[in-house]
Amino acid sequence: MTDDAPTPADQHARVVVIGAGQAGLSVGYHLRRLGLTPGEDLVILDRAASTGGAWQFRWEALRLGAAHRVHDLPGMNAMGLRFDDADRSRPARDVVGEYYRRFEQHYDLRVRRPVAVSSVSRIGSGDAGRGSSGLCVVVRAADGGERRITADVVVNASGTWGTPFLPWYPGRDVFRGRQLDTTEYRSAADFAGQDVVVVGGGTSAIGFLLELDGVAARTRWFTRRPMVWSETSALDVEAAVSAVDEQDRAARAGEALPSIVSGTGVPVTRRIRSGIDRGVLRESPMFSRLDETGVVTADGEHVHADAVLWATGFRADLRHLAPLHLRTAAGGVVVEDGRSVDEPRLFLAGYGPQASTIGANRAGRRIARQVVDALAAADA
Ligand code: FAD
Repeated sequence: MTDDAPTPADQHARVVVIGAGQAGLSVGYHLRRLGLTPGEDLVILDRAASTGGAWQFRWEALRLGAAHRVHDLPGMNAMGLRFDDADRSRPARDVVGEYYRRFEQHYDLRVRRPVAVSSVSRIGSGDAGRGSSGLCVVVRAADGGERRITADVVVNASGTWGTPFLPWYPGRDVFRGRQLDTTEYRSAADFAGQDVVVVGGGTSAIGFLLELDGVAARTRWFTRRPMVWSETSALDVEAAVSAVDEQDRAARAGEALPSIVSGTGVPVTRRIRSGIDRGVLRESPMFSRLDETGVVTADGEHVHADAVLWATGFRADLRHLAPLHLRTAAGGVVVEDGRSVDEPRLFLAGYGPQASTIGANRAGRRIARQVVDALAAADA
């Protein structure tokens, strides 16, 4: 559908939230507390079949606490649930999926799933009835049918998992082995006896290298920049604050968002220390190209690879917002305090400085308040 197209809606909601990960659930919880009724004036949609946001898709071996800390959702402690007490012997995807499911049930958030949003567009002033000045959300439901929900306000909380970022290097199209990204990684056992090249300087790459150690025949690690290890076992708070500030500056400027770990350094946990000491976590500068059987370093060394694992980060998954034409030439969307500057009826939760579980939590409260103010202004 195009902007300004008069289209009959199947439903009108005051607020539609796209995505039921940490950010969407946090916003939903606060909006409910502020008086909206889930399923009626508050509609939360998620394209995944189950609870857990992106966590439900993470690889089996990932445990809570292996990356950074996962913060509790607001209102979770009142239910007697804390991620810090969660069972670390179980896959993080199962634990988070279960906690989110209990949270959704407890607060009766009525998330509709699997319901994928395919577009969000502006409704023209020519439309009759409520929502005529709002936004139109087109969804594809499990039965394959398309429906339209109009809304006064849309909160986008669609995360990044749907849009892994793979940098282009010469030869990527000639390499005959397997290439995969973080979202496609399942288990180290899939690489038993293989030579694996891992690319990327974040916690996913580190986790893969540690898991592959002793299972793959050989691993080699390539990063764009030398690793910055932070010799505290928890994330350096000062560095984290400045990295989040940098995300905020980029979001306000409408620029593509920088990676968080490039600003914070990676905390050296006991497991990582042991990996560094054993030489498993020793990075090489980024290779210059791939060929049919591996990669070629800047020094001309050929490194044989059966597989190249690109753990090279993510971009915000905003494809369904394309009809709103919010992308700037600098590659981002202009967002101030969780609100789109160019489309004030659109909020972006979990975007830029909010892209962590604690950031998503804080965003929930702040965005919910602003949403309620925006609704009051629309009614005035
Ligand atoms: P998501 O959890 O991705 O939720 C987005 C939801 O939106 C999904 O459920 C998706 O199905 C839905 N969706 C997307 N597009 C659509 C659409 N078009 N229509 C309908 N629904 C849609 N952060 C931490 O704080 N601590 C950690 O330890 C940590 N570990 C991480 C490990 C890895 C490997 C990665 C990649 C990230 C990690 N993060 C961690 C960051 C973490 O992902 C975020 O902190 C947080 O979970 C993101 O929440 P979110 O709600 O923004 O996104």
